[in-house]
Amino acid sequence: MHDNYMIFPMETMNVTQTYLGKTSHYPHTTGTPKDYPIDIAGADSGRSAVFCPCDEMKITAIKGVGNPNITNTMWLVSTSPVITPTFTDIAFMTLTHQNDDDIGRFKVGDVFRRGDIIGYEGTDGATANHIHLVCGRGSSNNWTESTTGKWVITGDTLPPENVFYVDRNFTKVKNSGGLSWRYLVGKPTVRDTAKDQLEISYSDLIARTGPTTSAPKLGYIIMGIYDNLGSSQSDGYTWYKLADEIYVPSNGTWVKELPKQTEGDDPKVIEQLQKQIELLQQENATKEQQITSLNEQVTDLTTKLQSCENDIPDTETELYQKVQEQAAEISSLNQQIQSLQEQLQHCQEVPEDEKEQNCKVILTCQNNNQYEVELYEKNSLKYQINKY
Ligand SMILES: [Zn+2]
Repeated sequence: MHDNYMIFPMETMNVTQTYLGKTSHYPHTTGTPKDYPIDIAGADSGRSAVFCPCDEMKITAIKGVGNPNITNTMWLVSTSPVITPTFTDIAFMTLTHQNDDDIGRFKVGDVFRRGDIIGYEGTDGATANHIHLVCGRGSSNNWTESTTGKWVITGDTLPPENVFYVDRNFTKVKNSGGLSWRYLVGKPTVRDTAKDQLEISYSDLIARTGPTTSAPKLGYIIMGIYDNLGSSQSDGYTWYKLADEIYVPSNGTWVKELPKQTEGDDPKVIEQLQKQIELLQQENATKEQQITSLNEQVTDLTTKLQSCENDIPDTETELYQKVQEQAAEISSLNQQIQSLQEQLQHCQEVPEDEKEQNCKVILTCQNNNQYEVELYEKNSLKYQINKY
């Protein structure tokens, strides 16, 4: 049980007298102020345990221990709001008739948690083992004498069926005392994302044995998470199966479906995919930078290409001029060579070893190109022109 329900505190319910009783309880409800006691016995004539009925209760008063003239009584108040059939708030209860060796173990301020044993039925101020129980909303730590001479519990006392649910999982009902208890059914589980489940957070949802309004009522379904064992439509409601012979209706808001999560919904998978996306985005940014750089290079090359094209003669006239220039150069060279031929005549009279040194000359053309000309052999004119 996850929500802080206030549940009937004994494993067997045997209500032997209610606040409507005509014997010892009669003066409790016929005077002013009044309270609403019930006498509860357990499984048998022995001393059954009374358990803490909510998440936590604290002792606010203990009276009568060691005093034969005052009936042993313990006051307990919840330390946080509890869910009851009629309110959600702090609640109190008093237990009366525990024996000295039981109640005497505790002191004001002691705390009990759900499921702890608070005490046992007893016979202090009574002839048979039982607990005289009074409860209500808010706090209490005292009693007062009413106009009928009874000591009644102070505070906002209420009929117990308005304060306690009866959990079918915990309490076996032997005798309800004729009171209109609200029963709780169902065993909530925990969320398992691998399963189709349901969340019920509506406290007044009645469970039935079948998926129709004509099926017998089981009680109020305990709020929480349940496995969804299937659904069907009937009588204007969607009926969900929570267990064998436990069905609840929904008008669309009373029950929330919690579908099992596919792999794509798995938070770990989503995280991995997001990391992959980040890496791809980084890679993409790098490639975009590369593309920008390449585009810049293309622009540079295009500019260079355009400047190269300016150097290339692109008309026949220009080409013709180039040829004329070359022809002029060749003509100029021929003239120089002729001049060299004349010099060569002189070279023939130069001693053999000096000749080679002297017969190598550099010619400069009109366009400033330079040529190395080698002359050799005595009686025949031979020369070789290399671009310098
Ligand atoms: Zn009583």
